[in-house]
Amino acid sequence: MSSHIEQSGVTVLGLGPMGRALAGAFLDAGLRTTVWNRTPGRDRELVERGAVGARSVQEAVASSALTVVCVVNYDAADAILRRDAVTDALKGRTVVNLTADTPDRARDAERWAAEHGIPYLDGAIMTPTTTIGTPAAVFIHSGPKELYEEHRPVLDALGGTHTHLGEGISRAAAYDIALLDIFWTAMAGYVHALAVARAEGITARELAPFAMGIGAILPPIFEQSAEEVDNGSFSGEGNPMTSAASSMAHIIHASEAHGIDAGVMRAAEGMARRAIGLGHGGDGFTRIAEVLGR
Ligand code: NDP
Repeated sequence: MSSHIEQSGVTVLGLGPMGRALAGAFLDAGLRTTVWNRTPGRDRELVERGAVGARSVQEAVASSALTVVCVVNYDAADAILRRDAVTDALKGRTVVNLTADTPDRARDAERWAAEHGIPYLDGAIMTPTTTIGTPAAVFIHSGPKELYEEHRPVLDALGGTHTHLGEGISRAAAYDIALLDIFWTAMAGYVHALAVARAEGITARELAPFAMGIGAILPPIFEQSAEEVDNGSFSGEGNPMTSAASSMAHIIHASEAHGIDAGVMRAAEGMARRAIGLGHGGDGFTRIAEVLGR
């Protein structure tokens, strides 16, 4: 670690599970780390490990050239940052907001930061707390490239891979939303599948190896369909939309026969039926991405 980084130190605002993991990784990397959280006491273990527990947000941000914010959402981040005393203390210091929220909120935060002379980067964390400080962590960032490069040595202390997605401030939030869309709809399918399987006398443990097999089918589909979607070809060769809709109808019937809500699958089937109605029955399932955007 260069002496420049050690001297400048870093501040972490928000000590939920993720904020604590971030602060812990900074400490492990030997950085002078200042922490603050709305509810007092959450800093105890970090302070025992050498962090400085600030008494106020303004004291926390004044301690470092770089402040990392990681709270539940931008309402919380705004409640912490958008106060005169804090804004004054932040002037000329950099904020990296690793809180998850929408692209609109990222743009709004950038406007606020610019109005107050606060260099601002937005970002998101794509992996769980246990990965922080390890090679498995994944961070995405957006905002001024030069600012990102300046603070990259400190961010690198968090381990994992860091990708700068562009100067547009909302880029990281937009990727985050798209990736979480995949994650939560997949998880909704998974828990629904567990309920239907259970009603048929199959335990989650019994299903697990086969469920993992289904998970493994997805990465090559993401890879292959990327080009198809971008060039608008949507080939249904080998698996047309009509066949997909029929398979989905079986899932709806089987789950409703057990009195299990099939709302998620009905929504998916509804999208396929709409695309079929528009004349795309022979296309692949990815055609829906284009239909939804019309
Ligand atoms: P939470 O999302 O539950 O955030 C908890 C933090 O938000 C605490 O510091 C809490 O303070 C603070 N907070 C909530 N409301 C307010 C408020 N009104 N004013 C001030 N502070 C507030 O837990 P995480 O730490 O896990 O997540 C933080 C961020 O990281 C989220 O945006 C999340 O989506 C993202 N993330 C989390 C991952 C994970 O595995 N946990 C993975 C990837 C991203 P207090 O203690 O006072 O309540």
